[in-house]
Amino acid sequence: MTSHSLDRLAERRAAYGAKRPASREHHARASGVMPGGNTRSVLHMAPFPFVIVRGHADMLTDIDGFDYVDCAGEFSAGLYGHDTPDIAEALQTALADGLVLSGPNRYEAPFADLLCSRFTSIERIRFCNSGTEANLFALQAARNVTGRSAVMAFEGAYHGGVLTFGKGPSPMAVPFDWRMATFNDTEATRAAIRAQAGELAAIIVEPMIGAAGNIPARRAFLEMLRSEATRAGAILIFDEVKTSRLGAGGLQREYDVNPDMTTLGKYLGGGLPFGAFGGRAEVMERFDPARPDALTHAGTFNNNVLSMAGGLAGLRKVFTPDRAARFLAECEAFRTGLNSRFAEAGLAVRASGMGSILSLHLGQDVPETLAQTDPRSITLRQLVHLNALDRGLALTPRGDIYLSLPMDDAQRARIADILMAGVQEELPFVLDSASS
Ligand code: PMP
Repeated sequence: MTSHSLDRLAERRAAYGAKRPASREHHARASGVMPGGNTRSVLHMAPFPFVIVRGHADMLTDIDGFDYVDCAGEFSAGLYGHDTPDIAEALQTALADGLVLSGPNRYEAPFADLLCSRFTSIERIRFCNSGTEANLFALQAARNVTGRSAVMAFEGAYHGGVLTFGKGPSPMAVPFDWRMATFNDTEATRAAIRAQAGELAAIIVEPMIGAAGNIPARRAFLEMLRSEATRAGAILIFDEVKTSRLGAGGLQREYDVNPDMTTLGKYLGGGLPFGAFGGRAEVMERFDPARPDALTHAGTFNNNVLSMAGGLAGLRKVFTPDRAARFLAECEAFRTGLNSRFAEAGLAVRASGMGSILSLHLGQDVPETLAQTDPRSITLRQLVHLNALDRGLALTPRGDIYLSLPMDDAQRARIADILMAGVQEELPFVLDSASS
């Protein structure tokens, strides 16, 4: 980080804080009862996060009365926006019929049916409460079915709060026998899989690595994982918790690569807590409770009526395959348009990602590996985040950008204008060579 960028960040944070006395006071009170005033690490930002009191369509309002276009998008779970009528209506109906029913309900099987028909790799599916849980169940299924214990994961990957990786597993990661590999390094990963072939129960990968800066997988990399996993007898798991929004059938359909298991979450609950794991019938049938060798899968709220009803309505009535395809095209046009504007303005910044999920990176080219990413991009994103807030646009604190279904052409144009202006204003502080 340059001293200029540090000064700039301090200045921006102070100005941000000064404008939001109500959020500051809320944070001070919250800090007395929750560590750091926080119950979700990723929402932390200095000096304090703004407290959101209302969401409508693609807009947010904070406790100090500021309105923002919502590109934080609940880290991708907010695909539908805040109050899509079809989903609200389904939730009202479910609510009227009672909440805690203690048995199978009328939503879960049709919802499962729809998901199985959309995701090519999913022949059978089970619901749970979060993406983290979905990944834990998928991994434990793979370990039990293969009778092996090691799991290959990729540096920089995030598969949940207890499935977080830097160079290696984070201190909070569940203590599995992790084997780390490098995302998008096709030949080194092939060699690593072959070298550990008898030990690997599973390989877990996000087809676009999100937490590391939204870098899509190279096709050859996913195809290699597919063939090498089969050869090694390991279960290939695609974490599509986020990427499932990049097309009706997720990225597995876009890439035409079929994993053995897929995990889902986020938007698929229609905005309510949701997780699911599914895959080949042969693997998933181990969860049939009538079997003598059945694997258990429990969870009080696995089939809670609100997530089931909201999720089903979302897929049936809103995120139809047609809408998903159009949305992907609209969002790709947004990203390529933004990158053209950066290039034409001579700004060494590009937006990576795919469709409705984007990240800003320093450089003339979109990085294809973690090694190609510039560490100064983190500061750029923090500065652009604060800059954009001033202009009425909310990104995630770490700078991820999510587009949502309620946004129209005019709204996307406004977002692009704000991002352009923010990058133009902040980039000089990041590039300044006076290193501290
Ligand atoms: N996998 C990926 C790729 C994710 O991005 C996330 C959440 N950001 C998860 C899993 C975990 O999902 P949840 O927060 O619902 O536990």
